[in-house]
Amino acid sequence: MIEVQNLTKRYGSHCAVNDISFRVEEGEILGFLGPNGAGKSTTMNILTGYLSASSGSVRINGYDVLEDPNEAKASIGYLPEQPPLYLDMTVREYLDFVYDLKKCTLNRKKHIAEVCRLMHIEHVYGRLIKNLSKGYRQRVGFAQALIGNPPVLILDEPTVGLDPKQIIEIRTLIKNLGKHHTVILSSHILPEVEAVCDRIVIINGGEIVADNTAENLSAQFSSDRRLLARIAGDEQRVYGILKHIPGIADVTTCGEREPGVFEYALEPDEGADFRRALFTALAKDGFPLLGLKSMEMTLEEVFISLTREQLPETSRKGGNRK
Ligand code: ADP
Ligand code: MG
Repeated sequence: MIEVQNLTKRYGSHCAVNDISFRVEEGEILGFLGPNGAGKSTTMNILTGYLSASSGSVRINGYDVLEDPNEAKASIGYLPEQPPLYLDMTVREYLDFVYDLKKCTLNRKKHIAEVCRLMHIEHVYGRLIKNLSKGYRQRVGFAQALIGNPPVLILDEPTVGLDPKQIIEIRTLIKNLGKHHTVILSSHILPEVEAVCDRIVIINGGEIVADNTAENLSAQFSSDRRLLARIAGDEQRVYGILKHIPGIADVTTCGEREPGVFEYALEPDEGADFRRALFTALAKDGFPLLGLKSMEMTLEEVFISLTREQLPETSRKGGNRK
């Protein structure tokens, strides 16, 4: 549905997007995740034909954005980071205007009413956009993207600046839209893409550092099966015991969690299961084991570790990091 090949964008000598490629299949909700300045908006502006690439190609719904810009654009509903709203128009005037701009051929009244119903903005239909709250403005921006019923939706940080209730509403909406549309959603918030997306592309310093399902990304980084142990008793003495338990390759102290109770991250030798030996050794010296849990990395940690690994390379290139 969307095919991005070897896309590069330079602003003068600064490379904002560096040779990225990815695909989005029909009906997929793709999360485009990265910190501020990663190149998300730049990529989305190129996908939607608002910005030209320095090199590389983008095909949307089979149409090359450069060769068949009209067909490609007609396939896309775009909600930019700053929605293009005319504040002195009413919602009605604005959506009418967008309908004309997109040369929409669907039944005007019926289609606009349907979009308003979907976005829950019927009751502000006659209001001036400048008098709407941030949440409602965002919905009007969304409505604008939906006019013409395009098969592809590109949403640039659609929940930024909204309150928690509005964020949940917008996420639910995106999930519902995903049933009938192909969606790319950018975000710098990991739980957001985890909650909404089927697949995640992580971009950092203009380069793709991961492209996988949320589940696989998590699994990829939890294969080392580290355990987190919570143990009561003197930290130094417990540490000394842990260091000598067969099957434990490495011990990291994680600090005091309750008075006199400390946590330790335990790294096993390849394939080793040290849980019984751990229990026996601690019991022998009278240190109660209060908890033992698997340290599966959350996607948040995966993200941090991936972007941290990229840091030296990005700095070498003189990447502009915020
Ligand atoms: P994101 O949306 O992920 O926060 P952007 O795509 O907006 O990132 O920006 C990527 C990089 O390109 C940043 O380093 C940013 O400063 C730079 N950049 C963005 N737009 C321009 C521009 N018009 N001119 C020069 N540099 C830009
Ligand atoms: Mg951006």
